[in-house]
Amino acid sequence: GSGSVVNEEREENLRSPICCIMGHVDTGKTKLLDCIRGTHVQEGEAGGITQQIGATYFPAENILERTKELKADAKLKVPGLLVIDTPGHESFTNLRSRGSNLCDIAILVVDIMHGLEPQTIESLNLLRRRNTEFIVALNKVDRLFGWKKCKNAPIRKAMKQQSVDVVNEFNRRVTEVITQFKEQGLNTELYYKNREMGETFSIVPTSAISGEGIPDLLLLLVKWAEKSMVEKLTYVDKVQCTVLEVKVIEGHGTTIDVVLVNGVLHEGDQIVVCGTQEPIVTSIRSLLTPQPLKEIRVKGTYMHHKEVKAAQCIKITAQGLEHAVAGTALHVIGPGEDVEEAKKTAMEDMKSVMSRIDKSGEGVYVQASTLGSLEALLEFLKSPDVQIPVRGIGIGPVHKKDIMKAGAMLEKRKEYATVLAFDVKVTTEARELADKMGVKIFCADIIYHLFDQFKVYIKGIKEEKKKETASEVVFPCVLKILPDGVIKSKDPIILGVNVIDGILKVGTPICILKKIENSTEFMDIGRIGSIQINNQPLDYAKKGQEVAIKIDSNHGEQKTFGRHFGSDDKLISHISRRSIDVLKTSYRDEISEDEWKLVSKLEKLFKIL
Ligand code: GDP
Repeated sequence: GSGSVVNEEREENLRSPICCIMGHVDTGKTKLLDCIRGTHVQEGEAGGITQQIGATYFPAENILERTKELKADAKLKVPGLLVIDTPGHESFTNLRSRGSNLCDIAILVVDIMHGLEPQTIESLNLLRRRNTEFIVALNKVDRLFGWKKCKNAPIRKAMKQQSVDVVNEFNRRVTEVITQFKEQGLNTELYYKNREMGETFSIVPTSAISGEGIPDLLLLLVKWAEKSMVEKLTYVDKVQCTVLEVKVIEGHGTTIDVVLVNGVLHEGDQIVVCGTQEPIVTSIRSLLTPQPLKEIRVKGTYMHHKEVKAAQCIKITAQGLEHAVAGTALHVIGPGEDVEEAKKTAMEDMKSVMSRIDKSGEGVYVQASTLGSLEALLEFLKSPDVQIPVRGIGIGPVHKKDIMKAGAMLEKRKEYATVLAFDVKVTTEARELADKMGVKIFCADIIYHLFDQFKVYIKGIKEEKKKETASEVVFPCVLKILPDGVIKSKDPIILGVNVIDGILKVGTPICILKKIENSTEFMDIGRIGSIQINNQPLDYAKKGQEVAIKIDSNHGEQKTFGRHFGSDDKLISHISRRSIDVLKTSYRDEISEDEWKLVSKLEKLFKIL
């Protein structure tokens, strides 16, 4: 097969490291990938680079050839480097197989003109959580004003060609980025100044347009992987393989694209794959890779392989893969191995994700492209400053049935009748049904965009609810009538008062306490019609303020100062179970801790259960 590089002469039996590219949108991830594989291919010196399914393979020879100027050793220990093609997806970095990361090393791309951006930090946190090694590509150096292009040159050689101004600007920006990383608790340094690899992360300045720094990046990736991950990269026969994508391909039915991290896959191998409902047991019909790059590629034609050795990305065709779950491990049943055991193991990943669903049954519905991206999203939604509960999950495109499930929340908590669709398509039927039912769908391929959309939506709903309940809310207050404070005793009552506790707001129903023998009763006086201070109207008055209030009497229940109540009576807001609920759900942010304390005091006073 074209892709399977088996080099028996290498001293150590290492497999190729698997590399992912991450970073904020528009930093140049795609371009960087194009650059490291493209130019050479187009110039007809493919140098053994092979296009795989969802990945590009760079043989060691190619890497050495391109990094000649850096005077690297004549030999590399790893057979090559496997770079995952779809950049920027948390899902890939989050993919695991047998508990360890699928991605051995990552390139975190930062735009030198922009420094760290929100998604850089998101990627950074994910990499740290997963303990994944990474190298920072500080991209777009060619955008420094006055940059002289030095096509595909090592970065230090390119820097020598630059004017003092460019060098100064370069240094200034590098220092700034290093400071920004420091603020994230991370030590970084230009790779050629880095004396503590492992403790301090390396920065490689690059241009994905003119190729400066690309040799440095490639060599550093491979060398660093070789040096720090010998154990992890030691080839073993035990198959370690993860499903990247589930795709329908004309003429092949549902296929799975997999990363073979370790071991060998053969045509006819019996495999077990995690399914949405139950494990799938089937056997490999064919192992496919795309046609080599230099040949004219006819869409939909593949090369067939009898066997494929790690590390590689390949397409597997087999029967019964319709419900396979992307992001889960693929298991091969060896001779004498127990199918039942493998079935159980296959479903474990799915189970662990299912277990993160909120037990309360209240929450949003979350749909993602792979189990890995779903996990990343769930983790994010759980984090302390997000805290969005999840009641259901799905993998793959959003269908009508998913909308139905999300719709179950319409009656209970309208804001949760929502589908957060991460990096997946929504079928037309599903969208139509959602519109009809009033289920919201938010789509994004960046986690924090989903969150932002949802946040805005929640805010809108809260505002709406606030408006609906505005007449029912009662803020807590206790007022004392000032000596000589009676301005008008009825029609309407106007009093000078001191706000001795809580917050006084226009519209608040006011009552007084009446002790009758051993029990207390309440007498409603009316609602606060207006508040004034020095003849200026106020919407509210705070504890300690002295203001004039007008009390509009309740319909048909005219109360008079001096007859129904006197100067010794304290005026208290009349709260109820309902008014407290409204306060809790819609006005929580507007009320202080002291005011909550008063609410609980009044709760007892009014004997609200
Ligand atoms: P991605 O969203 O991270 O994949 O970014 P792209 O690879 O799509 O690049 C975003 C934009 O930046 C495109 O217009 C690229 O042409 C441009 N770009 C990417 N890398 C470089 C670079 O090194 N130098 C310059 N000048 N532009 C770049």
